[in-house]
Amino acid sequence: MQADNNHVIRFHYRVFALPAAGEALESSFEREPLTVLLGHGGIIQGLEQALLGKSAGERFEVDIPAAEAYGEIRPDFVQRVPKKYFRDPAHLKPGMQTPVGTNQGPRLVTVLKVGMSVVDVDLNHPMAGKDLRFEVEVVEVREASPEEIAHGHAHGPGGHQH
Ligand code: ZN
Repeated sequence: MQADNNHVIRFHYRVFALPAAGEALESSFEREPLTVLLGHGGIIQGLEQALLGKSAGERFEVDIPAAEAYGEIRPDFVQRVPKKYFRDPAHLKPGMQTPVGTNQGPRLVTVLKVGMSVVDVDLNHPMAGKDLRFEVEVVEVREASPEEIAHGHAHGPGGHQH
């Protein structure tokens, strides 16, 4: 079965910043494959496009420019946040990435500067501004249930559990 919009695809990936010389920025191979309902914006646009038409067992590589990945770095994405919004405020250090509570749930930020009661953070995604190479191995492609399509995300292992 070839992956199409409104199918659920499970896949492993490794992602490198281009030019792909160093170590992977992130890899799923040591954990569960990622499970995604295609056509609902659950993953970056460039990767969603590249997965269309692929079948279980296929391996491929795709280069995705920053604009179709996590976007360009936005200099105005620096904010001052009260310490109470951090899970572990006593251990914040410049350069570390940590989740901070927002209206839309926890969001990963990079700590820039730690003050007495506030912290300056960079809200840009750590992969913003980077052209990326994905190495992908497709594990499974299946039809989505009507419930998954209504919710706009995949259920089951690697998907939403509810
Ligand atoms: Zn759901």
